[in-house]
Amino acid sequence: VFVSFEGGDGVGKSTQVALLGHHLTTLGREVVVTREPGGTPLGLELRRAVLHGEDLDPRTEALLYAADRAHHVASLVRPALARGAVVLTDRYLDSSVAYQGTGRGLGADEVEQLSLWAVQGLLPHVTVLLDLDPAIGLARLTGDPDRLEAAGDEFHRRTREAFLARAAADPARWLVLDASRPADVVAAQVRARIAPLLGA
Ligand code: C5P
Repeated sequence: VFVSFEGGDGVGKSTQVALLGHHLTTLGREVVVTREPGGTPLGLELRRAVLHGEDLDPRTEALLYAADRAHHVASLVRPALARGAVVLTDRYLDSSVAYQGTGRGLGADEVEQLSLWAVQGLLPHVTVLLDLDPAIGLARLTGDPDRLEAAGDEFHRRTREAFLARAAADPARWLVLDASRPADVVAAQVRARIAPLLGA
């Protein structure tokens, strides 16, 4: 079972990944918790390059995310799924479609094609969208904003709308949740959606 968590910065993705991971572990499942960018050693180098390196043109940025994702899926996600683990990822290809495709203006369709090529078509069984007004999400973050977090209100509004539009177009895969609700309430909604997938 493969589950991705998506949404803007500060919406609580890592909290929800951790809560679901803990829950599934108590059920006796093998759980692999991971993230993009940076789910592998190479991915950490790419994450540093894309978030804290030199200024990048949008295509370079998109290709570095795609390289991170290709390696992440080939070296970690697919092997884990093959042995029956539940894989929970904090961001996956829908982040690229929203941020590089819509946010950076490269085109959602083009970035989706690039992303699907990178992962040979692997899509999550469920994608949880933690939806929140970006002003609230960004205010939750502490520490130095990285380049993307500092990108500006309009950029974050566009990416939020891009996530919502993608979710609306494929309700069988997406679960859209109001991330302004308490974390335990959101976690219960996530568990309810995942439970039917765990039977096998
Ligand atoms: O969620 P996380 O902290 O790992 O994301 C790091 C930064 O990279 C965030 O500011 C996020 O908006 C950005 N990002 C992006 N495109 C992606 C994935 C993440 O712009 N495909």
